[in-house]
Amino acid sequence: MSQEHVGRRNFLKSCVWGSATLLLSSCATGPRKLVSCPPGQAKGGKLPSEGLCRMPSQGLLHKVESGDTIWQLSRDYNVSVDAICRANGLKSSEVIEVGQRLVIPAAREVSRASAPLALKPSDVVFPPRLHPVREPQTLITPLQVPIHSRRMVHEVGPLETVWRISRMYDVSEDAIYRANRMKPGSRISVGQKLLIPNAKVFHNVIPLYPSQKWRYVLVHHTATEIGNASLINKSHHSRGFWHGLGYHFLIDNGTLSKGDGQIEASPRWIKQQDGAHCKAGGMNSKAIGVCLVGNFSEELPTPRQLRSLIYLTKTLNQGYSIPSSRVVPHREVRGASTECPGNRFPWSTLERYV
Ligand SMILES: [Zn+2]
Repeated sequence: MSQEHVGRRNFLKSCVWGSATLLLSSCATGPRKLVSCPPGQAKGGKLPSEGLCRMPSQGLLHKVESGDTIWQLSRDYNVSVDAICRANGLKSSEVIEVGQRLVIPAAREVSRASAPLALKPSDVVFPPRLHPVREPQTLITPLQVPIHSRRMVHEVGPLETVWRISRMYDVSEDAIYRANRMKPGSRISVGQKLLIPNAKVFHNVIPLYPSQKWRYVLVHHTATEIGNASLINKSHHSRGFWHGLGYHFLIDNGTLSKGDGQIEASPRWIKQQDGAHCKAGGMNSKAIGVCLVGNFSEELPTPRQLRSLIYLTKTLNQGYSIPSSRVVPHREVRGASTECPGNRFPWSTLERYV
């Protein structure tokens, strides 16, 4: 734990939520660096950089494929038709040509590429071909939590989509739109509460993107008793992190309307950006930052958090060919002056299973 963490727990107890957001997750630090196009193979043998590339403005460069229209691209990337037209000097009625490169400003969904990673076929759910929101290939964990309430309410996390939420609960997107009296394709926003009709189970959904940059998994704790991705995202934004939440994944502990052991993929992961969780050793650009909500200098992770961590780590190791020797606690990075993820964290349990 870093010195910043000391005394945080007691401080938090006395805070109201508005001010508590500034205190969370202090072990995340790091540069504000843009990501270059990840190497790797995409569908049809093309490099992903042919299909998309991060622009300095945080937008994407999209290479037009057969069947693409400006309207469809606006749906795919959650960006308005007007914004795409403005960024490219086009009229909305204009026909775009195959091979043409279009700037997608401030795109919220990143991946069109879907190179198969080394995963069991039974674990992988491919997005429907013409789905309005093109997600990466997505892995659904076998960790299912039965739901007993008939009226399940899901609070939307940062950059979550109805497509991904529908897979978390095994409920169709249409059913979610209908239950919430929304038009299909409507935007959703962080903090919005969505009624999930007839949900019976909850799955942790882990999106995987083709990339060769990830070589380590670094494990952290928030050093707080409570938290979720929305709150820490807000907190890190307010601390000056341009891309918000510094970690790539957060494993919740059942507080702030999230499930115990729920895995949240952060916007940084969805956009495949560098982390802001460990400057030492250049880890921000090569390590996947996984953080568990809790203060493990004082308590233990919940059994469900540990189970989710083991599954997430195994999934990432397999997906990105990361050996188990490169799954490390933050404190073991040379130059990192911290005891994160806490002296009580049962590291040997993780080592036994990963
Ligand atoms: Zn840490």
